[in-house]
Amino acid sequence: MARIVMKFGGTSVADIDRIHNVARHVKRETDAGHEVAVVVSAMSGKTNELVGWVQSMARTAGSGTPFYDAREYDAIVASGEQVTSGLLAIALQSMGVDARSWQGWQIPVHTDNAHGAARILDIDGSEIVRRMGTGQVAVVAGFQGIGPDNRVATLGRGGSDTSAVAVAAAVKADRCDIYTDVDGVYTTDPRIEPRARRLPKISFEEMLEMASLGAKVLQVRSVELAMVHKVRTFVRSSFDDPDAPGMGDFENPPGTLICDEDEIVEQQVVTGIAYAKDEAQISLRRVADRPGVSAGIFGPLAEANINVDMIVQNISEDGSRTDMTFTVPSGDLDKALAVLAKVRDTVGFDVVQSEAGLVKVSVIGIGMRSHAGVAATAFKALAEKGINIRAITTSEIKISILIDGPYAELAVRTLHSVYGLDKQ
Ligand code: ADP
Ligand code: ASP
Ligand code: MG
Repeated sequence: MARIVMKFGGTSVADIDRIHNVARHVKRETDAGHEVAVVVSAMSGKTNELVGWVQSMARTAGSGTPFYDAREYDAIVASGEQVTSGLLAIALQSMGVDARSWQGWQIPVHTDNAHGAARILDIDGSEIVRRMGTGQVAVVAGFQGIGPDNRVATLGRGGSDTSAVAVAAAVKADRCDIYTDVDGVYTTDPRIEPRARRLPKISFEEMLEMASLGAKVLQVRSVELAMVHKVRTFVRSSFDDPDAPGMGDFENPPGTLICDEDEIVEQQVVTGIAYAKDEAQISLRRVADRPGVSAGIFGPLAEANINVDMIVQNISEDGSRTDMTFTVPSGDLDKALAVLAKVRDTVGFDVVQSEAGLVKVSVIGIGMRSHAGVAATAFKALAEKGINIRAITTSEIKISILIDGPYAELAVRTLHSVYGLDKQ
């Protein structure tokens, strides 16, 4: 007998039939004698709908850009998960499985005060563990917890993955299964490249990069938690027949294991390609070239909570003025331009140019640490397709390239194939 946390994403609980199907996956594990806790997302599309309601209410109430209180945003968007946890508990009960729904505050899942993008600080798993001992399944509403202000707090989009791994760590589960609409982690998004291959295993470091560079299959924070707390995490499909052979295999369930790099025997140089749409580029022309200028620009942007990436500074021609180019998420472009307008006189620069709708494509692989020429291969392949590169950043295990939006899919497929990742 083992202890398993099972998480089901939005498409897996999209309607009543699918929730019944999810209940069959859960029953398979309880029938096998395992202790189970479940974490659920909102029905697919629900969170977007709720966010849309918040935005249109804010727009109706005021004017121009919607401004709303993050605590009320959380009160509204957390409701989607409340519904699915109750529905799944009913489905399980109707199949003879003892089950009870739990909202974040009831467990409790304690978070910090960053409403809308809160971090889990600690989870008291004792009551869930006690009930597991009696055979009861806890069905936990993902994506939500309770902040120090005693109010519901949500964990940022995709946050149910993080709820699941955090619950698994809190109850010391033997395994955390993230069920989704694909049957594992692929070499790139299988919806963009049908020749993408499913990876049997991927290292924590590579999964962290894939997630933070746009692969939405796991929320970044969930991978961090799995790595720190050594949670054995699998990504697998909820659309597989719950009772097909091998589905209940404890050691080797179908899917992708996220694990330490030494568990991977055949390490490739490049493991995967990720992409992030909706990047914006800002260029400051003729910036004073003296100490303190970068701090004067990026300090205020950080204070405004704007995530700056890919910074490129040119050599100044006359030793006194330079150009500075960087990227921000498109959604933050207006806010960033407003911040820059305020610091323009103190920092000293001439013009600000900006462009939204760009795409960052990234090549990821631990093997890059010991192989030269990986970046050059990417640049040559993109050049052959006539794709212009706007900016480049690299780290030990990744190369990110900023390109124009319309070339996103071509660039992903080109890189996928040039590194030999295509399915044979
Ligand atoms: P859920 O609702 O279950 O949380 P998500 O939509 O958040 O599911 O994540 C699953 C999606 O992630 C897949 O449908 C797929 O399109 C996308 N995805 C992006 N990159 C990858 C990848 N490398 N491997 C698998 N899926 C990926
Ligand atoms: N329902 C939330 C979202 O759509 C959380 C999740 O699904 O993980 O972002
Ligand atoms: Mg998700």
